[in-house]
Amino acid sequence: MMSHQLLLFLGYTARLSVWLIILAAIFVPLERLFALRPLPILRPGLLEDLGLYFLNGLVAAFLLGVPLAFVAAIAVNIIPEAYYSQVDMLPLWAKLGAIFAIGECGFYWGHRWSHEWAWLWHFHSIHHQPNALDWLVNTRAHPIDIIFTRLCGLVPVYVLGLARPGAASDNIGPLLLTLGGTVWSFFIHANLRWRLGWIEQVISSPRFHHWHHSREINVNRNYAPMLPVYDRIFGSFYLPATAWPQHYGIRSASILATAPSPPLPGDIQTLPPQ
Ligand SMILES: [Zn+2]
Ligand SMILES: [Zn+2]
Repeated sequence: MMSHQLLLFLGYTARLSVWLIILAAIFVPLERLFALRPLPILRPGLLEDLGLYFLNGLVAAFLLGVPLAFVAAIAVNIIPEAYYSQVDMLPLWAKLGAIFAIGECGFYWGHRWSHEWAWLWHFHSIHHQPNALDWLVNTRAHPIDIIFTRLCGLVPVYVLGLARPGAASDNIGPLLLTLGGTVWSFFIHANLRWRLGWIEQVISSPRFHHWHHSREINVNRNYAPMLPVYDRIFGSFYLPATAWPQHYGIRSASILATAPSPPLPGDIQTLPPQ
């Protein structure tokens, strides 16, 4: 008889497989029709990225709940109950708006620290290795990188009482935040030549995130997953009027290789004018 854990594992794997088929059905045809640069579907690194898609999906499903519950349990003992009562009375739309704004800010800083702190860059640099971008590059990340960045976005949401671990009805906000952010992340990595005009100033686009993967000039900019306003506030926004980066990646070629070095924080000052 199958154990409960094995059934859970198989259930999550099946769910991830369905999501992969849906995402491929959307992005593969779009990238054939509107490719920024010619790139074969069966490109180098495809199998690694598919493996990381499943590994990271399962890691997020099984390992994120424990630290979130732990942090929320500590917060409940420190922050006065009156505060949580006030938060509970907020209408759903206000809670969802706050979760989005706070979560995005956390993701921004988690990503930025992954560039600026050497030991985090060691893990995050795997995501910056590809010399060409397509939608599936989104999944190319070390599990520790995924866990760290997700925790940066979700811990403040739980500590502030905008969600409660364990209660399904109280987790709709974090679920939407994570799901929406993940689907959007596939889009901004895609090999699509679309320009979104003024919308690119408000919400992240492929061109916005492709500059984050640029190799000519280093990668200390455009950290926000969805809201570029955080890059504007914290001084890391870079989006020239129409240009795309010419080259992507870093020098290290193997997924197991150590990245050469973290980017220098002062690098942003070497950018060409926008
Ligand atoms: Zn990065
Ligand atoms: Zn990326």
